[in-house]
Amino acid sequence: MLHSFLNLLFPRTCTSCHQPLQLNEALICTDCRFELPKTDSHIHPDEKIINRFAGKVLLKHVFSYLKFVKGGRTQQLMHALKYKGKQEVGLLLGQWYGAELKQLGFDKEFDLLIPIPLHKSRLKSRGYNQAACFAQGLATGLEIAMSEDTLVRNHQTVTQIHKSRYERFENMQGVFELKDVSFVRDKHLVLVDDTLTTGATIEACALALLEANPASISVITAAVAY
Ligand SMILES: [Zn+2]
Repeated sequence: MLHSFLNLLFPRTCTSCHQPLQLNEALICTDCRFELPKTDSHIHPDEKIINRFAGKVLLKHVFSYLKFVKGGRTQQLMHALKYKGKQEVGLLLGQWYGAELKQLGFDKEFDLLIPIPLHKSRLKSRGYNQAACFAQGLATGLEIAMSEDTLVRNHQTVTQIHKSRYERFENMQGVFELKDVSFVRDKHLVLVDDTLTTGATIEACALALLEANPASISVITAAVAY
């Protein structure tokens, strides 16, 4: 009774399907949770994901948690995370995926999670880095460290969509800077982002990290657009 009354005043709805949440549910309803379109790319390596970096930068693992389909559950979640201030969505998805990865022993393959940084002006206008929210959740689930100040973004890039591969590469030169070389040397690093599209931004970050001679670089994203 009280629950339905409170729900009338302050409707709590699922971030994904927008149906009312039960008392024991938070952010994402049980139906959506069990029907999340997982890629399982950490179990069956997915060439459509891995090939975005083939011949560009050597990565140990490339995992994406969810498939991004237009109008689907993942799009709703990523939109809420990126544009509606729902930082908790990133944390929750990161915790879920981190726990799955830890169960399979991946915590032993990684030392440090590094979210793709935002430029400080973008960080100021949005108030948070959505990739860092997902990375924070992964850090909790995997029980490994994360660092937000190792890699910084020096300038904001213009949209990449209409650029050729070479133009995109040029556009990315010098955008990312490694602040602490000795901190990442010989470590197994994981670059973390919200949605994997062309991979050009992640590639530029990986190239910046390589200058410090890490033991390896992997990539984990919350979603992947095919
Ligand atoms: Zn739902």
